[in-house]
Amino acid sequence: MEEIKINHLKVKTVLTKSNLPIAGYSVNPYVGCTHACKYCYACFMKRFTGHTEAWGTFLDVKHWERIKNPRRYAGQTMIVGSVTDGYNPQEEVFCRTRAFLEEMQGSGINLIITTKSDLVLRDLDLIKTFPSPLISWSINTLDENFKDDMDRAVSIGRRIAAMKKCHEEGIRTTCFISPIFPEITRVFEIIEKIKDFCDYIWLENLNLRGNFKADIMGYITEKYTDLVPLYEQIYSKNDMSYWMALDKKVAEYAATNGFLYVTDEEPFLRNPTGKPIIINYFYHSQIKQSAKNR
Ligand code: SF4
Repeated sequence: MEEIKINHLKVKTVLTKSNLPIAGYSVNPYVGCTHACKYCYACFMKRFTGHTEAWGTFLDVKHWERIKNPRRYAGQTMIVGSVTDGYNPQEEVFCRTRAFLEEMQGSGINLIITTKSDLVLRDLDLIKTFPSPLISWSINTLDENFKDDMDRAVSIGRRIAAMKKCHEEGIRTTCFISPIFPEITRVFEIIEKIKDFCDYIWLENLNLRGNFKADIMGYITEKYTDLVPLYEQIYSKNDMSYWMALDKKVAEYAATNGFLYVTDEEPFLRNPTGKPIIINYFYHSQIKQSAKNR
């Protein structure tokens, strides 16, 4: 494995005001992410932090001033891991995400953790003390070979096992099917696999507006040659019909199987069905509108 360049960084705060639809604050205890996903949109962080190394080969460990009066954030939603994974393998040594959870004990915040790791299980003792915590695992394939081609995080099997364990422990869980690779991500197979221990299923399409577009298109050309025309149609000609058709299929699947299918407007909707709620985070407004009208 490539050597990771570790730096230590003193910062005023680990809290950043967020304009994400689901959280008022984001919490990123690290700069960079050693999961090194090939499609990582967060690699734009390099521009702001002066890093010239390849994404995934460096990690800045943040050391912040202790959060003053955590209780003043009561009722606010904080998401850990918007441009890093707070449970990257180095967290096992540096424990910065754990430090954040310790500082926020008793604060009354709504805690969301997004990860591709099962290291989060280490901190269940702390996580359980938050009012209604939610942990999300990104899973966009059941094919471990494709996963290995795309990231250096733990296997899909380990992510699913962690999700199951958390669900059994009474923690709300999300399967974040993201990014959906057209004709590669088997959305319904994933849903069938996790539906019994998952509260929410978030769907997000692959977006190739970043610098990584050439890498992903190169990968598709090499490994999924048959799909090149489809990817060209979507990512060069901006044809949305694939996403609209998928949206329709999800709606049909949801209706047939008794799942609620909604847009991103209510990410914490309480579940009247006893089955996971499927939430559409496709970026296209027409598609959102289409799901909204249901
Ligand atoms: S886990 Fe998230 S932040 Fe980390 S490299 Fe992958 S997409 Fe980027």
